[in-house]
Amino acid sequence: MTIHPVQTDMQFKNYIGGKWIESRSGKTFASHNPANGELIGTLQASDTRDVDDAVNAASIAFEKWRKVPAPKRAELIYRVAEILRARKQEMGELLTREMGKVLPEALGDVQEAIDMALYMAGEGRRLNGMLVPSELPSKWAMAVRDPLGVVAAITPWNFPIAIPAWKMFPALICGNTVIWKPASDTPVLAARMIEIYEQAGFPPGVVNLVTGGGGTVGDALVAHPQVRLITFTGSTDIGRAVSIKAAQNLKRVSLEMGGKNAIIVMDDADLDLAVEGILWSAFGTSGQRCTACSRVIAHHAIKKQLLDKLVPRTAALRLGDGLLATTDVGPVINHRAAQKIHEYTEIARGEGAAILVGGAIATEGDLARGSFYQPTIFDNVTPTMRVAQEEIFGPSLSILAAQSLDDAIAINNRTNFGLSTSVYTSNVNRAFEAMRDVTTGIVYINAGTIGSEVQLPFGGTRGTGNGHREGGGAVVLDTFCEWKTIYVDYSGRLQRAQIDTDALVKTVL
Ligand code: NAP
Repeated sequence: MTIHPVQTDMQFKNYIGGKWIESRSGKTFASHNPANGELIGTLQASDTRDVDDAVNAASIAFEKWRKVPAPKRAELIYRVAEILRARKQEMGELLTREMGKVLPEALGDVQEAIDMALYMAGEGRRLNGMLVPSELPSKWAMAVRDPLGVVAAITPWNFPIAIPAWKMFPALICGNTVIWKPASDTPVLAARMIEIYEQAGFPPGVVNLVTGGGGTVGDALVAHPQVRLITFTGSTDIGRAVSIKAAQNLKRVSLEMGGKNAIIVMDDADLDLAVEGILWSAFGTSGQRCTACSRVIAHHAIKKQLLDKLVPRTAALRLGDGLLATTDVGPVINHRAAQKIHEYTEIARGEGAAILVGGAIATEGDLARGSFYQPTIFDNVTPTMRVAQEEIFGPSLSILAAQSLDDAIAINNRTNFGLSTSVYTSNVNRAFEAMRDVTTGIVYINAGTIGSEVQLPFGGTRGTGNGHREGGGAVVLDTFCEWKTIYVDYSGRLQRAQIDTDALVKTVL
């Protein structure tokens, strides 16, 4: 496949009130390719003054945007999908360059945003409210969805196109205006994406971009009294801090955070199928998915057989630049991440785990120019070890043994996270028991832990989320709306609900 040449050293500005402008401080920061260190672009290092400008622009725009009929708002979102589809290859290649995931996965990331745009554009002609009978005669009772106002979308680098789409399209279709603060590791993609919104014809101030550090731009958005909703995806520690801070202004906060996802492999499972699911879920995106499998809980009777198949396949995975067709596993996001992943290898060693494959930062040949970590498997892991409990967010997989399905589910459920679980079994009763007893937000049967579809809710329990859901499904709209309940009394007289309904029924009858 031909990879398109691109100019990779451009400077990108903030997008506020429909204009591309420099940060007030004039300071900038750079974004680099994690595979080889190449400069991808220079961005605005914004501060609270830029956030104030963006909130001001978004607040002004909100008063008009909320009155644009939802089907018209939908047409602009649909247009984003069309442009993104036309630029899919180019955006996918840029995604691989800036974030590192292999090109087929990068194209999938872009495709997910297209799917979400099409799905939410459809909502423009639905946005269901409620119309229910009143307890009083000659009276209508209904509830409609109202937008909240200015929404701040704070997003991570691991799905730099898809995750913002999960937030921004539902926010916009509901009539909110948006300020996007992208991760500082993938800001060029955000700027390119905003160009697409601009080209689609969104009015000034409806979509805004402010780049810069989480501790400055992110924090200022969370603190700003005119921002009514923070929709955040990222680590649990930062999410908790965001939630606490936002509570001071009684803001709505939707949190999608870390995971410690497991694949349970039972003694009746198709082991070859399970191996494929484990390889894809544990090492796809270099293990940097919130839904990545970081624990395999294997029935003790098949554990050795499973590892005999899994370990050589893991050792054969080829590390490299995600743009090369020969690469199976791309870089991790930066050197800091590679070091953190390696610290967990040392922790595993210290806790008595056996390292069956991998276990080091990869530096052979061209890999030395980037941030690569060898796909790694820890064996003899017990449920309370740190590597079985904490999110590593890299290509590191812990193997635990279970005595039964109940035991496996108990181990699975006993972490501070609750995003995704997969169970491999050929026994339909066991599959249904698992569907009943697993306490994560997503459950897969005979498929890996990754691969959500936009038309169903996405999110997790415990330390993964705070009860909201994203992705798709009409439930996502509830995050981005206020319910407004409306009663219309056309009886022409005073009717007192919940006071004299018995008397009224007698009158009517
Ligand atoms: P992160 O470090 O928590 O950062 C997430 C976002 O928050 C970034 O835009 C970051 O900005 C910003 N931020 C940092 N400090 C902030 C503060 N004090 N106030 C407001 N915003 C702040 O997470 P990440 O490393 O980008 O992403 C990896 C994490 O995301 C993993 O834990 C993963 O499991 C989770 N994740 C969860 C889901 C899900 O749906 N559950 C999906 C994907 C990823 P800077 O980049 O400028 O620091």
